[in-house]
Amino acid sequence: MKPLADGMNRILSEGALTVLREAKVLENKGRSILHFEIGQPDFPTPEHVKKAGIQGITDNYTRYTVTEGIPEFVQAIQKEIQITRGYTPELDQILSLPGGKPGIYLTMISTVNPGEEIIFPDPGFPTYSSLSQYIGAKSIPIKLKEENQFRMDPVDIAENISERTKLIILNSPQNPTGSVMTKSELEQVAEIAREYDCFVLSDEIYSKILYEGEFYSVTSFDEASEQTIVLDGFSKSHSMTGWRLGYLVGPAPLIQKISTLVLNAFTCTSEFIQRAGIAALTGPMDHHKIMMKSFRARREILVNGLNEVPGVSCQMPAGAFYAWPNITGTGLSSREMAHYLLHEAGIACLPGTAFGPGGEGYLRFSYATSIDVITEAIPLIRNAIERLKR
Ligand code: PLP
Repeated sequence: MKPLADGMNRILSEGALTVLREAKVLENKGRSILHFEIGQPDFPTPEHVKKAGIQGITDNYTRYTVTEGIPEFVQAIQKEIQITRGYTPELDQILSLPGGKPGIYLTMISTVNPGEEIIFPDPGFPTYSSLSQYIGAKSIPIKLKEENQFRMDPVDIAENISERTKLIILNSPQNPTGSVMTKSELEQVAEIAREYDCFVLSDEIYSKILYEGEFYSVTSFDEASEQTIVLDGFSKSHSMTGWRLGYLVGPAPLIQKISTLVLNAFTCTSEFIQRAGIAALTGPMDHHKIMMKSFRARREILVNGLNEVPGVSCQMPAGAFYAWPNITGTGLSSREMAHYLLHEAGIACLPGTAFGPGGEGYLRFSYATSIDVITEAIPLIRNAIERLKR
């Protein structure tokens, strides 16, 4: 076989899947494993959303649609942005996509040439750095600091930005740290982006998983019309990871070009899934209240439990559903500790370094799992780490 395209040597897999695979091997050998590695809500998709999807199939909404999405869905997104971000985008600023993730890839390849720079958080969602390498961009990771509660600091962005910077990626609430940037910080980033005339992709997939305060989007700054772009979707807010449904809202000329790319690559988002999305956006949010109540309770138990483990300290995350404990006091590296906990205590969590070099010294626990699992895990983690000290 001839060698593949060069970019294929630069693209990376995701740590969560690697650990899940390793944990499954142990489970197949009869080991019992408690899972904290995967970032998807453990709740079912709300009934009214499922029904709308099924009805869509029954009604034969099973054909191609226009690339940007059926008008009812695009209008529902417009309304959602109006309610949650406080401005009303034009319909030609909106693009329906199969999941939030494609929005990252599509925005990157549409805005950044090889050799140009992309700023993103470190630790951060691994796709940012993997795709940045893939497209031949120069990655500019911005280290998130514990003393700043892991919020991306606009001062660090200002120090690292240059005329070559084309795209800044923000993610708030953040995976993996659970940090939430303040309105003032986001406005400062928007100012910097304007000064350097670069795009800002705001990955807001966790916008509805917030424990304190109001959600604020950096895109309110220019109403996603000049340089900012919203990425949001249904995977986390409506437990719809497997449905693959998300969207972008951005400057109309950019959205139009991305839409042409979508047309060439995968035509459109499945229509019966868009119809489920309309139900999600316009229907009741009772499931969300129940989910948030549960996440809040789990967050307290997990974080308080981790703080009782010798050598471990953990800040209370402000959003998303991840705990990000500092394990430097244990003497093990992130990778060593994740491996040790999996093999010695049957706890599957991710090494912080799965999210970039800035994650060294940390682990990520997804608390999208039951209180029973969390309660069972805490003493196992504590005992395993105490054994290290002996
Ligand atoms: N962005 C972040 C920060 C995420 O954590 C995830 C999923 O884990 C995504 C995007 C992808 O979302 P989706 O499942 O809608 O593609």
